[in-house]
Amino acid sequence: MDLLDTLTAKGLRGETPTREEALAVLATTDDELLDVVAAAGRVRRRWFGRRVKLNYLVNLKSGLCPEDCSYCSQRLGSKAEILKYTWLKPGQAAEAAKAGVSGGAKRVCLVASGRGPTDRDIDRVTDTVAAIKEADPAVEVCACLGLLSDNQAERLKAAGVDAYNHNLNTSEGTYGDIATTHTYADRVDTVQKAHGAGLSACSGLIAGMGESDDDLVDVVFALRELGSDSVPVNFLIPFEGTPLAKEWNLTPQRCLRILAMVRFVNPDTEVRIAGGREVHLRSLQPLGLHIANSIFLGDYLTSEGQAGQADLDMIRDAGFEVEGMGENTLPRHRADVAAQASGGCGTAAPAAGGCGSGGGCGPCGGHAHGDAAAGTEAGTEPAGAGDEARTDLVRVRRRGAGTELAPNA
Ligand code: SF4
Repeated sequence: MDLLDTLTAKGLRGETPTREEALAVLATTDDELLDVVAAAGRVRRRWFGRRVKLNYLVNLKSGLCPEDCSYCSQRLGSKAEILKYTWLKPGQAAEAAKAGVSGGAKRVCLVASGRGPTDRDIDRVTDTVAAIKEADPAVEVCACLGLLSDNQAERLKAAGVDAYNHNLNTSEGTYGDIATTHTYADRVDTVQKAHGAGLSACSGLIAGMGESDDDLVDVVFALRELGSDSVPVNFLIPFEGTPLAKEWNLTPQRCLRILAMVRFVNPDTEVRIAGGREVHLRSLQPLGLHIANSIFLGDYLTSEGQAGQADLDMIRDAGFEVEGMGENTLPRHRADVAAQASGGCGTAAPAAGGCGSGGGCGPCGGHAHGDAAAGTEAGTEPAGAGDEARTDLVRVRRRGAGTELAPNA
């Protein structure tokens, strides 16, 4: 297939495809799907080998958010029966982080719901980072605290934070459909503030909110232009009690096409399968590892993932290996760019390297309009087609941070 030959050749050179080529990936048929995965897999192996970076989410503050992101179970007015709690103490957060690191995670993602941190919140996170790094100085820490004010990114950097996550989530053109309490430009500004302060930028998207193929391609190219070191790809988890509870637009095949498109546009960037992996890829999760080089271990912010051991078994069974604490994630040339920007996190190895991604304030939901996703051939109906709530697929988190029960890692 000429398209895939072209995309592979460009990806192996670290070049991005044209917008038309990216759209064509999303339009491939189920008959072509394994060829698409194989082509994206060649690009993935060129830059990241067979390594899988594991990241671990710690929800520092859950629910009670004043923002109205339609996809989010923690949003203003959410009726989702999620855990709600205020800031974990540094020791509690470090304890949760330790579980993830023991399970193989090299990055801990500290997430707090809310529009953005106060200066007092930055103090809390500073103490938490100190507690985590005291236990294991090598662990990467990514913060995800919402919109940043002036000088907060610099304070996080000084506290030892390595990366900052703030997802663009969807295209600029459709952003007003998913949130009204802040803008796409606000989100871009925060990613730029983080990058400018020398933090590795982690910014991604949510697919399955009813967006068009053009919207998906728009946001993925925007993330490339922003210089995101890692791109978390969330698949909308349609929580009961949120405005997008009935948005079941995704099939496993569609998810793989989206991941492949993201990989081709970001050949040498960490691509992470984030929230919704188990819900939407289901039994095809191992194929996703051929495209993405990073996943979350265990549970998400407000929903439960599969058992941490199942993640590790899946990686091994599919012929991949967990990336070690001392290994670089990003390829050398990308790490150099990150190092120039930050003087930190981002050094690299032969064809891989550094530091980079988050998944925080975002792996909880989705929305939109029009000519959405959907499978291209018979037999690929989305899981929730027919208006039924899929409480069997969406499990609210009841363990780990903020509870008395052991974390899943
Ligand atoms: S995504 Fe973040 S800012 Fe938006 S409602 Fe959820 S917690 Fe609040």
